[in-house]
Amino acid sequence: MIQFVCKKQKKKLTCKEAAKMVVPYIEGRLGNKELRRFVNHIEECKDCREELETYYIVYKGLMQLDEKEELPMNIIEALNEDFAVSKQHLKNMSLFYVLSEVTKWLVNISCSLFLIEKIMELILGV
Ligand SMILES: [Zn+2]
Repeated sequence: MIQFVCKKQKKKLTCKEAAKMVVPYIEGRLGNKELRRFVNHIEECKDCREELETYYIVYKGLMQLDEKEELPMNIIEALNEDFAVSKQHLKNMSLFYVLSEVTKWLVNISCSLFLIEKIMELILGV
């Protein structure tokens, strides 16, 4: 049972799953949850990182043909920049998450304090 819960909570992306996310990633179509798992996998897995680089080059090459977009001078550098932006985005998102949790927590505390005050009033008849 515990094993089942852990597996569900901390399910890591397999290379096969990561491969399916490469194109949506380049097109910026991954949701935050998927993006986080994808970025984590790419950072840990050299094979998928190379796969992403290959796709990125092909994708940007096709964009250039389609829209006559300038190909970046150093395409790997451009990918690294994109990747850094994704990581920053995730960082901002977790900061936002922490802040909203803290806010909820503070609201809870002030509600509890209010209740305690009310109870004290009832008990002590203040
Ligand atoms: Zn992999």
